[in-house]
Amino acid sequence: MAKIGINIKQGKIELPKVIVGIDLGTTNSLIAYVPNSEKSDVCGVESIKREPRIIPVRGQGLVPSVVYFDEHGSPSVGHYAKSKIAQEPERTIFSVKRLLGKSYKDLADKADYVGYKIIDSDSTSEAMVKIEIDGKFYNPIELSFLILKEIKTQAEKELSVHIEQAVITVPAYFNDSQRQATRDAGKLAGLDVLRIINEPTAASIAYGIAEKKSGNVLVYDLGGGTFDVSILTLEEGVFEVLATHGNTYLGGDDLDRSIAEFWLKKHQLTSNQLSKTELQMLRMIAEEAKIYLSQDEIWGHAEAQFEQVFQCVNINLTLTLSVSELQNTVAPLIGETLKSVHKALSDAELKPDQIDEVVLVGGSTRYPGVMQALMPIFPHVFINNRINPDEVVALGAAIEADVLAGNRSDVLLLDVTPLSLGIETAGGLMDVLIPRNSKIPTRLAREYTTSVDGQVNLKVSVFQGERELVGENRKLGEFILKGIPAMPAWLPKIQIQFALNPDGILKVAAKELRSGVEQEVEIQPTYGLTDSQVEEMLLAGFQNAQSDIELRLNQETINEGNQMVYTAERFIEKNGQHLSAEEIAGSKQRIEDLRCLLNDKADRNSINKQIELLNDYTRPFAERVMDIAIGQALKGKTLD
Ligand code: ADP
Ligand code: MG
Repeated sequence: MAKIGINIKQGKIELPKVIVGIDLGTTNSLIAYVPNSEKSDVCGVESIKREPRIIPVRGQGLVPSVVYFDEHGSPSVGHYAKSKIAQEPERTIFSVKRLLGKSYKDLADKADYVGYKIIDSDSTSEAMVKIEIDGKFYNPIELSFLILKEIKTQAEKELSVHIEQAVITVPAYFNDSQRQATRDAGKLAGLDVLRIINEPTAASIAYGIAEKKSGNVLVYDLGGGTFDVSILTLEEGVFEVLATHGNTYLGGDDLDRSIAEFWLKKHQLTSNQLSKTELQMLRMIAEEAKIYLSQDEIWGHAEAQFEQVFQCVNINLTLTLSVSELQNTVAPLIGETLKSVHKALSDAELKPDQIDEVVLVGGSTRYPGVMQALMPIFPHVFINNRINPDEVVALGAAIEADVLAGNRSDVLLLDVTPLSLGIETAGGLMDVLIPRNSKIPTRLAREYTTSVDGQVNLKVSVFQGERELVGENRKLGEFILKGIPAMPAWLPKIQIQFALNPDGILKVAAKELRSGVEQEVEIQPTYGLTDSQVEEMLLAGFQNAQSDIELRLNQETINEGNQMVYTAERFIEKNGQHLSAEEIAGSKQRIEDLRCLLNDKADRNSINKQIELLNDYTRPFAERVMDIAIGQALKGKTLD
C-alpha cells in the first residue's frame, strides 16, 4: 500500500484528500484510487506510474451491496449484512441498485423475488418505491447512501485520508432519474460526485483502450443480478455508446437459481416446500458449486463433480453437480446473453469482425462458458479478461477520477446523451434542442414566441424521447415563465436554453429578451422509468418515424394556418382605411374559409392551398399598403 504524507498545518493534522472511483454494483461495490507516490525505474529513467488500486474495505475488496437492519433499525452493510440474507430475509436488502429510480409499478411482478417488503408508498404510480422493515420506510437512495457511506468511511480509515470527491459508475442504460438518484446518494454520503460515468466506459479505460484513440469496443458485463452488453466507439480518445442491450434480471444469481432448481427437480421437490431461509441457503450452495466448477483445473474435466449434503424439509439431500450438468443447466441463460450481443451489434450496425476489442466485466464472466461462447463470435480478437472482472469498473473509475484531478492528460472523456431532449411547442410538437447522441456537456439555446395576444405566462414543458409529438415522449418536468409584459402574439422573444451537465443532468433556463424576465430550473426528472423504456423509446422513434413525420408536417401546417389567420386579421384591422370594401370582404371570406378548414382539422394539402389563396389574394394590396408605409417613413426622414 502506498504511503500518503500527512500535512501538519498550524499544529493541526490535516489529512490529505483523495479523489476516488466507485463501482456501486448490484451485487458488490468497490472503491479505488490512484496513489500518488509510486515511482518506478524504467531502464534507469525514473518515472511516475499512475496505476489504480482497489482500496480494501474492512480487509476486503468487494463489499456486498447489501444492507441489513437489526431490530432497533440500526444498519450494517457488506459481508455481515450478506450473511443475514438467508437468516433474516425480511430485514436484509440486496440488489438495491435495481430499485433505484423505479416505481412500485415497475417492480410489482418481481416483488416475491426478494425476502424484504417492497411497498407501494404512494398512490401516484410514478413515485419511487420504498422498502418497509418493522414499520420503518427506506427508499433506494437512502439505501445506496448507506452503502456509499460504509465504503467511504472505511476507505478513509484505511488510507488515513479525506474522501470528498468521487466518480461513480452506472450502467450505460441508466436514465436521467437513475443517474440523478445515484448522484443524490453520493451527496448524502458527503461526496461531491464529480462525474457519473458509464460502467463499460470505465472498464475500457482500465484496459487502456482509450489510449488507442479509435476503434469499436464491445463490453460484455455479466454481474450478480444483471447483464448488459454495450458497444462503444472510440474516436480521438472519446467514447460514445453506440448501442446497449441487456437484461436487468439476468446474472450470476440466475445461474445459481437454475442450479438450485435443477437440484430440487432431481430430488422431486418444489421451491414452495422449502422455507425462505432454506431456499436462500440452497442458492448459496449453488453459487459455491458454480464457483468451484468454474476453476480452470476443474472445468477441463466434464465428469468432475461438486458434492455437499444439505438438510432441508427435515431430510438430508446430497447435492451433486458435474461440470457437464452445470453447462447444460446454464446454457439457456448464456444463450440469452448471446442474443443481446447480436442485438447490440445490429443496433450499432456493426458486424462482429468490425469489433476491435472485447472486454469482459462482472464476476460471472469467470464462468468459463462465457469466454467459450464469445470466442467463436469474435475469433479475430483477443478477449480482454486480464484485469479482475469484478474490479475493472472501479479501477477505470479511479483513472477517470485521476484525470479529473488534473493528474493526467492521456484520457479524455465525453459521454453522449441516449435520448433527445426538447420542449413542447404549439400543437403538442416536440422541438428538439439537444439531439440524442450529442456529446455532453453541451449547451444550446433557441428563440420562441407566443401565439396569443397579451400572454403573460408561458409554460415550458421539457420532454425526452424520439417521437415528433410530445404526447408519445417522456415528460421530464415543466415550469412557468411568469411576468412576461403583455404584448401582441409573436412579439415576445423567449430564449430557452438547455444545459446538459457532464453527468447528464439537465438545466433549463427561459428568458424573455425584450423585458429580461427570466427563470431557471434544474430538471428533477420524475422517478420511475421502467428498465427497457429508454430502449423502447428509441425503437418507437424508429418504427414510427414515417407516420410521425406526417403528423409533424400536418401540425406545422396547422400552426402556419393559425399564424396566417392571426396576421391577416390584424392587418385588416390596422390598415382598413387603405383598403376597398371589396378587398376587406374578400379577405375576410378567405380568412373564414381557412379558419373553417383549421377547425375541421382538414388535410394538409387543403390547408396549404387555402393559405396560398389567402396569400395570393392579399399580396397586391399588402404591397400597396407597404409602399404607403415606406413612403410615410421616408417622408418622416426627410422632414427630420
Ligand atoms: P455486480 O456487478 O452485479 O455487482 P459482480 O461483478 O460483483 O456483480 O459479480 C457477482 C457475481 O459473480 C455473483 O453472481 C458471483 O456468483 C459471480 N462470480 C464470482 N466469482 C465467480 C467465479 N469464479 N465463477 C463464476 N461466477 C462467479
Ligand atoms: Mg458490475
